[in-house]
Amino acid sequence: MSDDTPNKKRVAIVGAGPVGVLAAIYFAQRAWDVSLFDLRPDMRLPENKARNQGRSINLALSTRGISALHGTGLSLDEEILKCAVPMKGRMIHLGKEGKLQSQPYGVRDEHINAVDRTKLNEDLLEAAEKFSNVKIYFDHTFKKADLDAGTVEFESRNGESVVFEVDFIIGADGAYSSVRYQLMRKVRMDYHQEYIDTAYCELTIPPKIDTDGDLEYAMDSNHLHIWPRKSFMLIALPNPCNPYHYKDRALIIGDAAHAMVPFYGQGMNCGFEDVQVLADILDEHKITNTLPHHHPEDSKGPQELSPLEIALEKYTKLRHADVVAMCDLALYNHYEMRSAVTSRTYLVRKYLEVKLHLLFPTQVIPLYTMISFSRIRYSEAVVRWQAQTWWLNAFGWSTASGTMLMGLMLGLRYGKDMMQTVTHAARTIGDTYMKGA
Ligand SMILES: Cc1cc2nc3c(=O)[nH]c(=O)nc-3n(C[C@H](O)[C@H](O)[C@H](O)COP(=O)(O)OP(=O)(O)OC[C@H]3O[C@@H](n4cnc5c(N)ncnc54)[C@H](O)[C@@H]3O)c2cc1C
Repeated sequence: MSDDTPNKKRVAIVGAGPVGVLAAIYFAQRAWDVSLFDLRPDMRLPENKARNQGRSINLALSTRGISALHGTGLSLDEEILKCAVPMKGRMIHLGKEGKLQSQPYGVRDEHINAVDRTKLNEDLLEAAEKFSNVKIYFDHTFKKADLDAGTVEFESRNGESVVFEVDFIIGADGAYSSVRYQLMRKVRMDYHQEYIDTAYCELTIPPKIDTDGDLEYAMDSNHLHIWPRKSFMLIALPNPCNPYHYKDRALIIGDAAHAMVPFYGQGMNCGFEDVQVLADILDEHKITNTLPHHHPEDSKGPQELSPLEIALEKYTKLRHADVVAMCDLALYNHYEMRSAVTSRTYLVRKYLEVKLHLLFPTQVIPLYTMISFSRIRYSEAVVRWQAQTWWLNAFGWSTASGTMLMGLMLGLRYGKDMMQTVTHAARTIGDTYMKGA
């Protein structure tokens, strides 16, 4: 890789999928010397076009993805949205009779956008290639990296091994990431417990999410925890939770860091947001392309960390809570899409949420709106959604109890029939909220 300025930082980005290319643009704009690698040939060449056609369903692009594209300042969002198909809601196909039910996604006519995956990737590649400090290597398969020494090895199309020297490696090589595998050999990722004596097994205590949506240890991390129980014991040691980086040498983003089931249409949006959040943190920490790696003046962290490592620590801490929340929500949406969308409970709740949102736009926001039409942190969206669920249930139960009481009073006053009618209504309301809890 070329490197005219001695201190100019060189970043190798593995994976020229949407997230990797967007990251290349962000780093190029921050004047890093960027090398982008992909095992595939250039998808834009006519001989490779055929293999991409019909390969995948379109992607839904929503606010987070649009924001990250917009953040480049290159009007990429406008360019990509020109060919997008707006989707304003779900169309539910009920039963075999072909009955349809439209369920809007947003409250105020918001829509998500169906974009062509290949075209999106191509547009990004075109934009990245315009930077003189970006070099794209197609037909280069990542093999291994020596993260401490800063070398990355690829196999080129003709089977040759090619080694590059770099300062920083970003793995954006998708769900089956090889860079992640390299990172896992370097960093410990779990908080674990051990049973000893007659048997041994490891358990994981997941971290807690604090009120700011950040992760924190479930227990005091400055102790080794022991539960002595005479014939057996349990011990727990703190492990740093799930780092996405290794020192100031490597980072994984996009699907490489958080492959999720595709049911919320957020995988790529979340990956694009990774890039934007990372860039914001690098800017906030004044990480420029020319900073030397370990300048003594800059080592302000508790363990003499370099500024880049401090920034990456912050990224890991901030982002982990969000991607975990999003992965869970993606699974939840699987349930919602295949079953809940037709249930009375779901529809009543959706109706109530929309009405309440119109009355109290900042206090009550439907989950889908928070995820797809805002940049509220995913983890915060989950916390808010749980609180909203609590209040809606409380409202449901108090309405049901109130109706029941009324039924009782009317029954005493006017007889059995009236009491039965009102009791039935109360039970229906109660059921609705019970199932929604
Ligand atoms: C059916 C389906 C529907 C989806 N719908 C949506 C949606 O509507 N909205 C949404 O936001 N997301 C959606 N997603 C998720 C979205 O496709 C991914 O989140 C997104 O593609 C991730 O981008 P990426 O760049 O991180 O990884 P990828 O797109 O997987 O790109 C990784 C790149 O790395 C390259 N690579 C891999 N290994 C190596 C190696 N060893 N060396 C060099 N290069 C390598 C690959 O060739 C590839 O180009 C969907 C996913 C699926 C499966």
